[in-house]
Amino acid sequence: MGIPATSLAVSLHKNGSSTPSISVVVPAYNEQEVLPEFYRRTSAVLRALGNPYEIVFVNDGSVDDTLAVMNRLRDQDENLMIVDLSRNFGKEIALTAGLDQCTGDVVIIIDADLQDPPELIPELLAGWKDGYDVVYAVRTEREGETWLKKKTASLFYRLIQSVSRVQIPKDTGDFRLMSRRAVKSLEKLREQHRFMKGLFAWVGFPSKPVYYKRDPRAAGETKWNYWNLWNFALEGITSFTVAPLKVATYFGFVIALVAFIFATKVIYKTLMYGDPVVGYPSLMVTVLFLGGVQLVFIGVIGEYLGRVFNEVKQRPLYLLNQVIPSRFSKE
Ligand code: UDP
Ligand code: MG
Repeated sequence: MGIPATSLAVSLHKNGSSTPSISVVVPAYNEQEVLPEFYRRTSAVLRALGNPYEIVFVNDGSVDDTLAVMNRLRDQDENLMIVDLSRNFGKEIALTAGLDQCTGDVVIIIDADLQDPPELIPELLAGWKDGYDVVYAVRTEREGETWLKKKTASLFYRLIQSVSRVQIPKDTGDFRLMSRRAVKSLEKLREQHRFMKGLFAWVGFPSKPVYYKRDPRAAGETKWNYWNLWNFALEGITSFTVAPLKVATYFGFVIALVAFIFATKVIYKTLMYGDPVVGYPSLMVTVLFLGGVQLVFIGVIGEYLGRVFNEVKQRPLYLLNQVIPSRFSKE
């Protein structure tokens, strides 16, 4: 990036001390196996940094002992905060709940399953000190993931890149550091359909990548499958572009044009050679083809309409069961 880091630092962080307080936001759903290890590694990193910090555990309606594990850790360490949601809302919303509750000058988002190494936090922080509002982690390798998952992910990025104005960086998850003003801006986006990668990109601000090797899950199981992935892709596309709706228009134009040419040909043939009854196969093909195309585009409209339906209800994004503040958020 061509911007001189030091001048940015001066203009952006006038009030920022050299030891900003850090909030680490961790959405967790059924993570009882990894949580203690996550806690151990993350707090070791944070303690070594010496900044005031809090680890915000968001319990996303886990059905195992995740909450009990969180409570046990909280009993021993006042640097922990627990945000307990009323039920499972999904990672995107759990994350949002954590961001709403945390109070640090800089906020780090990280998965509980240790696929995002907490040891990268000092490097993220260094980016912030250089004046960047967003320092996002880009994975260079994906271990423990299938060829098909990698391939579909890469295809998805290419697709969304080509249809949307917002530039979503490739191979980037939610693992990142954000300045307080970036978090505040993100808090203004209250849509129900939260395609986080897109929302992060929409917020903008000076951003910088940091590269890392993504580890396989430390324990427990991923909640992802291909059906989820497909829905995730659909979410990404529908929240950031109306291009699929426009496709119908152009498709309609092209078909109308072809129909017009075909009609001219039919009329000409009828006038010249009379009108014997033929053409059942072509008639059938045309009817079925058009019927199919119409159904597909009604489906596309439905995808958007369904999302409009969910947004107009204006429900709160989540409900809290309980919040146990950290020492730090009480100050
Ligand atoms: N997660 C969550 N709510 C959910 C599903 C997942 O808070 O409904 C959390 C999960 O505990 C983990 C993170 O989101 O900390 C990423 O989930 P996962 O590892 O299953 O996804 P993947 O790494 O395979 O993309
Ligand atoms: Mg994971």
